[in-house]
Amino acid sequence: MSAEVIDTVIKVLASRSIKTLDLTGGAPELNVHFRRLVTAARALGVKVIDRCNLTILFEPGQETLADFLAASGVTIVASLPCYSLKNVDEQRGKGTFEKSIKALQQLNALGYGRGGALELSLVYNPLGPSLPPAQAKLEADYKRLLGEQFGITFDHLYTLANMPIQRFGSMLISKGTFAGYMKLLRENHQDANIEAVMCRDTVSVDYNGALYDCDFNQMLGLPAPLPLAIAGKKARLHVSDLLSNDLHNQPIRIADHCYGCTAGQGSSCGGALA
Ligand code: SF4
Repeated sequence: MSAEVIDTVIKVLASRSIKTLDLTGGAPELNVHFRRLVTAARALGVKVIDRCNLTILFEPGQETLADFLAASGVTIVASLPCYSLKNVDEQRGKGTFEKSIKALQQLNALGYGRGGALELSLVYNPLGPSLPPAQAKLEADYKRLLGEQFGITFDHLYTLANMPIQRFGSMLISKGTFAGYMKLLRENHQDANIEAVMCRDTVSVDYNGALYDCDFNQMLGLPAPLPLAIAGKKARLHVSDLLSNDLHNQPIRIADHCYGCTAGQGSSCGGALA
């Protein structure tokens, strides 16, 4: 994301009184403007969430990252797909679990994940084509096992369903389980989850500044629908359009993958919906 797009994001945060800025990648911390964006957003009173892959803390040049995040009061949400070395290394690569544990211990030492202002939450998603287990029960298991084995504490565990798109979707197709997984999602759809899906109060901005209803639509290249006031004047919405247009109550672009958000206990960037 360029400096120009980031400047526009900062202007939109201020002009729309946006409450939360949720940064994800790849590794958003590697953007050369990351710290400037975080500092500007925090100065506006915006809650900043860094979706951190943990191992980034040990990359060359990132030695001061953890201290910066703590000093800026940034919320950290980190993916840890299991509490066992074997499962994490199988999913994320050899050595990932050990580095993730070391990073979590470092964050705990800075005051993260201890129930105070420095929030540290973990993300779990199933390894295969199944729905996530009950979030509260799994959170209790994670807290007990990570606490007993490594002395780690954290605030929340978010369980996320796997979306039938991108790498996971390709894996399902190659194993011949795509149709079965879609059936599972459809059969477990809960109308009540529609009220809370994240696209109702979140917009997703890509590195060029284009707007989507959510990150999944961004990955699929499905742009946010144009409001009537703009329709015909441009091809797609850009984050700069938020400076002069209110997108409240605009239609949301949906498709079959949305069942990944509405199945079972529901799934969003903040975990289960039910
Ligand atoms: S996948 Fe569909 S239901 Fe889920 S957040 Fe995106 S648009 Fe909303």
